[in-house]
Parts: sequence; structure tokens; C-alpha cells
Amino acid sequence: MRSKIVAGNWKMNKTLNESKELANELKTVVSGLTLENTRVIVAPTFVNLTGVSETVEGSVIEVAAQNMHQAESGAYTGEISGEMLKGIGLNSVILGHSERRAYFGEDDALLASKVDAALKNNLEVIFCFGEELEDRKSGNHFNVVGSQVKNGLFHLEASAWKNIVLAYEPVWAIGTGETASAEQAQEMHAFIRSIVEKQYDSGIADSVSILYGGSVKPANAEEIFSKPDVDGGLIGGAALKSEDFGAIIKAI
Ligand code: PGA
Repeated sequence: MRSKIVAGNWKMNKTLNESKELANELKTVVSGLTLENTRVIVAPTFVNLTGVSETVEGSVIEVAAQNMHQAESGAYTGEISGEMLKGIGLNSVILGHSERRAYFGEDDALLASKVDAALKNNLEVIFCFGEELEDRKSGNHFNVVGSQVKNGLFHLEASAWKNIVLAYEPVWAIGTGETASAEQAQEMHAFIRSIVEKQYDSGIADSVSILYGGSVKPANAEEIFSKPDVDGGLIGGAALKSEDFGAIIKAI
């Protein structure tokens, strides 16, 4: 049975103190829950990773990074390597978020090399992709998503897939308040699972968790999560308040 996952992407929000405060509140929230086969992940910004990791120690909450560089080390001023993330005790990294693709020019080829570098360092990859509004309007969304998944991940050997989590995040739904309908999410997730099965096999397709992201909030989480191919969510805005994120965890 594949894992259910609720992951909070804190993006460039919160100081160290604010991050620890939120982490502490979330620790209290999850301590009151019985989480069967469900993982809870938070992704603070780089400088707050250690502080948050220390805060959530002893709870089920896992900590992930939002990005990393593809090189092992060297003259890349301002960058962070997979080995460094591993070195502070992390086990997961988000790659390919649409904001990285749009504002930092991260294309499929670069992301494929980041995926390789992460896996080489035994980091699980939460790999994000999703179409823009124009793609959906023109009916090109399956093609766009299909090629993002293929170009980022289909070079991997089958054995690598145990460390891959997929996150479908339609760009038009991120931070806009507009959510894909539960049916649109289900339809795309089923499509993604079908192309993974075609490239690999049904074992891998059935065991990879596929998260939905884009304006998930307490009011819509339950409906989205009720769909058979939606295994959880990658949450932005609603992950910044413990009441909201807690309610979303409860919805799963
Ligand atoms: P949002 O962001 O929940 O604020 O739409 C989701 C994401 O970017 O991961």
C-alpha cells in the first residue's frame, strides 16, 4: 500500500523563531492524531532546516529541503549540495517546483541532473510538475505534464523509484485560490500513473505516491484526498498556519 503524505512547502516565509513556533504547534497537532500509513513533512527554507529539525525531533514530522544544487561541491557561491542536506539529517528534497522552473530557469534537463544528485545522496525526491493555464485551455495539459515527468524521471532505473514522490501542481492553481477540481486532479493523477506503468510496470505505478498541490485548504482537502489516485497534498499558503495545516492533515 502506498503512503499518504501531507507536505507543507513554507517557501520563503518565516524567520527562525517563527519557523520553530509553527513546528512546535504542529508537533502538538500531530501528537493527538493516529496517523496510519500517513507521513507529515514540512519544508522550511534552508537556514531554518536545522532549527525546525531539532524542534520536531521525537515526533512523526519529517523535514525536507525546498531545493538543492546538482553539483557535489565546489565553486558555486550561494548554493547547497545534497551531501550538505544529508549532513544535517534530512532525507527528502523538493525538486522542480513551478516557482523554481519559472523564476530560476530550472528546465527539465537541469532537474533531471538534480534528481540524480539527490538520489546519489540517498535523498528522497518530491518531484513537482504541472501545466500552465494556457496549456489547460488549449487541451495540451496531458502532453505538458507527460513530458515533464518523462524528461525529469524516466531515465531512472526501476529501483530508484522507491525514493520518488510525485507532486502534480497545476501552475494556475498555485497561490491563486483556484483549485483544480477533485475530478481534474484524479484524471491527471490516473494519467501520470498510467505513463509510469507504461514506462516501468504496474508495481512501480501502484506504489508511487502522487500528491496534488495548488490552493489546497481545509475546506477542499477532504474532497481532493478522497480520490483514489490522490495520495495527499503539497500545501503552500495553508501550511503556514498550524490550524489550517492541522485540519488538512486530519482530512487525510
Ligand atoms: P499553494 O501552493 O497551496 O499556496 O497554492 C502550493 C505549492 O506551491 O506547493
